[in-house]
Amino acid sequence: MKVDHAERGIFNDSHDQFRDQVRRFYEREIEPNVAAWEAAGIFDRDLFRKAASAGILCPGMPEEYGGGGGDLLHMAVCYEEHGYSPAGASIDSGLDTDASAYLILNGGTEEQKREWIPRFASGEVVGEGLFTEPHSGSDMAAMRTTAEPDGDGYVINGSKAWITNANHLDLCLLVARIKNGAPRPHFAVFLIDGDAPGVTKGKPFRTSHAGCGNLGELFFDNVRVGPERLLGGRGEGGIGQAARTLNLTRVLYAARSVAACELALSMALDFTKGREAFGAPLFKLPTVKAKLAEVRMRIDVARAFVDKCLVQANAGTLSAERSSMAKLWATEMEVDVADICAHLHGAMGLSLDHPISRIVTASRAHRYAMGVSEMQRETIMRSL
Ligand SMILES: Cc1cc2nc3c(=O)[nH]c(=O)nc-3n(C[C@H](O)[C@H](O)[C@H](O)COP(=O)(O)OP(=O)(O)OC[C@H]3O[C@@H](n4cnc5c(N)ncnc54)[C@H](O)[C@@H]3O)c2cc1C
Repeated sequence: MKVDHAERGIFNDSHDQFRDQVRRFYEREIEPNVAAWEAAGIFDRDLFRKAASAGILCPGMPEEYGGGGGDLLHMAVCYEEHGYSPAGASIDSGLDTDASAYLILNGGTEEQKREWIPRFASGEVVGEGLFTEPHSGSDMAAMRTTAEPDGDGYVINGSKAWITNANHLDLCLLVARIKNGAPRPHFAVFLIDGDAPGVTKGKPFRTSHAGCGNLGELFFDNVRVGPERLLGGRGEGGIGQAARTLNLTRVLYAARSVAACELALSMALDFTKGREAFGAPLFKLPTVKAKLAEVRMRIDVARAFVDKCLVQANAGTLSAERSSMAKLWATEMEVDVADICAHLHGAMGLSLDHPISRIVTASRAHRYAMGVSEMQRETIMRSL
């Protein structure tokens, strides 16, 4: 599908060239394979190495850490092309693991950055932030996973659920409650190898989505880590950086959702223009056309705000409440738009063989990932 990105006025030539690179990667390496991965319930781990060879992992990371030397808008391009690809909904958050690399870039010690970021960029390491637990998602204070001080290191016990790429994880950026008897809970981020003694991975969850994105759980049983595995070394353990990195990621999610809406709209336009009913294309029916016009308007209005947030995020000036507004607005819009566009496909909108059905289920997941809509409202409310 064709979108005029130049008209948005936020990208330069380097972003445009990079967009072609990412799009070609989706067309060559993901779209032809996604049906087989869906049947297997998981996409190939090798995809990360291929993406690294194509130069599309960590595009916004500094070159000195093995990244592409670009900026946050290069990363936004990756998220958008994910949204534009008909296979994007199926692979869930798929290759969008750079947020965890950003966590290390923003909160890690120099040694941690040098050790881990080049390995993210080369596809050698798949990492993810592990916050959610079987008993707690939004309510972080209810987190049960603990890190008990032991000598100069820690012993970790607990479990995490609904983790992106769970079965592919080489590095867990695990958030745990420090067990130190303090009255106020104190959380920290630990860097734990996915194959460390005491770490086990569950089977990918079976979801209504039926994609190949590999959301799953991990268990931590007396996992010993040294002090060098506390993000940022001694101190707060990077938890403040984790929150700030989530703000960046939320606006990238918003950009992906706007792109997915564009894709859903283009599918609905193609379908309604090609299908005849009552002697003419469905598209000619005023009630159908009015729905499509409404969707067009909502996407364009949302895009203007999300683009403004992307520019602010790139400049380091995006506030938490704006990031939450972008994420809340775009993901809720995606649920509505996906539903309207799937509806216009008639029964075909239910078929797992048509990508529009996956856009519907993925849109629901996007309301939860990176914090549910109600939590975004709470962030906005705090700013009033
Ligand atoms: C595709 C996908 C990828 C994900 N990847 C990861 C990952 O890599 N790492 C990770 O740690 N987690 C991940 N998650 C989990 C995600 O972060 C959680 O689903 C999310 O934080 C919500 O937690 P929960 O599902 O436990 O729902 P809960 O927090 O239990 O919320 C259930 C419902 O309660 C309501 N609710 C919650 N809070 C409030 C509130 N403050 N006010 C009013 N109502 C409220 C909402 O309706 C909400 O939907 C992912 C989820 C998805 C869908």
